[in-house]
Amino acid sequence: MSGDIGASRGMFLEEPLIFEQDTPGRCGVDLPEPEPFDDRLGGARRQGAIGLPDLSEPAVVRHYTRLSQKNFGIDTVFYPLGSCTMKHNPRLGEKMARLPGLSDIHPFQPESTVQGALELIDLTAHWLKTLTGMPAIVMSPAAGAHGEFCGLMTIRTALEDRGERRTRVLVPESAHGTNPASAAACGFAVDAIPATAEGRVDLAALKAKLGLDVAAVMLTNPNTCGLFERDILEIAEAIHAVGGYFYCDGANYNAIVGRVRIVDLGIDVMHINLHKTFSTPHGGGGPGAGPTVLSAALAPFAPLPAVVHDDKGFRLIEHAAGSGAKPCGRIKGYHGQFGVFVRALSYMMSMGADGLRQASSDAVLNANYLLAELSDELSPSFAGPCMHEALFDDRFLKDSGVTTLDFAKALIDEGFHPMTMYFPLVVHGALLMEPTETEGKNTLDQFIAVVRDLARRAKAGESEAFKAAPVHTPRRRLDETAAARTPILRWRPVEA
Ligand SMILES: *Cc1c(COP(=O)(O)O)cnc(C)c1O
Repeated sequence: MSGDIGASRGMFLEEPLIFEQDTPGRCGVDLPEPEPFDDRLGGARRQGAIGLPDLSEPAVVRHYTRLSQKNFGIDTVFYPLGSCTMKHNPRLGEKMARLPGLSDIHPFQPESTVQGALELIDLTAHWLKTLTGMPAIVMSPAAGAHGEFCGLMTIRTALEDRGERRTRVLVPESAHGTNPASAAACGFAVDAIPATAEGRVDLAALKAKLGLDVAAVMLTNPNTCGLFERDILEIAEAIHAVGGYFYCDGANYNAIVGRVRIVDLGIDVMHINLHKTFSTPHGGGGPGAGPTVLSAALAPFAPLPAVVHDDKGFRLIEHAAGSGAKPCGRIKGYHGQFGVFVRALSYMMSMGADGLRQASSDAVLNANYLLAELSDELSPSFAGPCMHEALFDDRFLKDSGVTTLDFAKALIDEGFHPMTMYFPLVVHGALLMEPTETEGKNTLDQFIAVVRDLARRAKAGESEAFKAAPVHTPRRRLDETAAARTPILRWRPVEA
């Protein structure tokens, strides 16, 4: 709570919607009046005004520039949002994605005119298969959650092919909310597996729930507590012994890329969040991409399309007829999130295999540095070392009158994006911090000093100040529930 921060008050000026800044007659261009002409619209021509606001060019430039500066983003601040892997987005990836040959093509173009784009999808797939050691991949899922859906639909189809209708999917209590949601969306009943006091899956409880009606176990590794599931081989063996499949949520892949081969863990299917691990800009709902790697046994049931390569070049397989495959269908229009593939491939190729391995090691080192430096002031939920994120709970705030939410809001005033709050659900008032490998020691030290200072102030009884935070933002505390439940998405002119 830095008192007078001396920042320009310009950021606090109210920014009306661009429609509210309408000043009839203002214009950024000077075009001649068109000559009268006959249109061929058969009477469908608009009669009234088009309804766009009139503004000068400088007014438009200021509006959008100011809006962009009100955003809290990875390019301006440290963004330790746990589970989200908010790493630096290299400008190289942006430059590649804007190359006209990659950005100005259309999915309906004849294959012969987009051989390079198909090769790019194939090469991205090749890197992901090589890194994970998995033999097959589906490139079309548009996000991690969509990859979960893809994986579970593939599993369901494989089971149906065996003539089995299995109804249950086991999901640990600490799982990301998309895991049970995906299982339910695919028609399975979700059965929760408790965690041990060490923050890992309770193996005995998991084994007790296994049976011939279990379609799959969904596990995140490293898990959402930032810990490696040490029993993973035994879990794989146990689910396979009852004929079920092992799904891995690969959102935390950044901790183990280049160090662990997914195939060696006994996993049958895993989605990869390209926008997290392989650094493409995300947040605010997209864009993302969730390519999903598969075992050879599941591959024939995966959704189409797929890119293949033969002596005639690259081709898209869009129908299974005659191939012997029994795809579960199609889960997305076109061929995947192409712009994200361009960025992810640029990232992988510029880092190289050695660079990716170094990145995962540095991510884990950074998280352990936070854990070590904050453990005496905050309350770490589990004994370290951790993987790429550090989990604390709210015991250090006990009787202070300050909640995890207040603590996160106070951090905004100090110039940092808050950590993830209240997730995972297995600890009380969770604070999940993920520094990623792209933060240097000086940034981490700054953050650590601020968090330690805030923790001391909370314990010293400054709860009033915490309740008021954030004070240095254009908006203070928002009614996030109302914003989500009854969003106002459309501007309507005020009736005169
Ligand atoms: C981000 C995340 C997901 C969902 O991925 P999206 O790309 O946001 O759909 C699933 N599981 C975990 C653990 C995650 O962190």
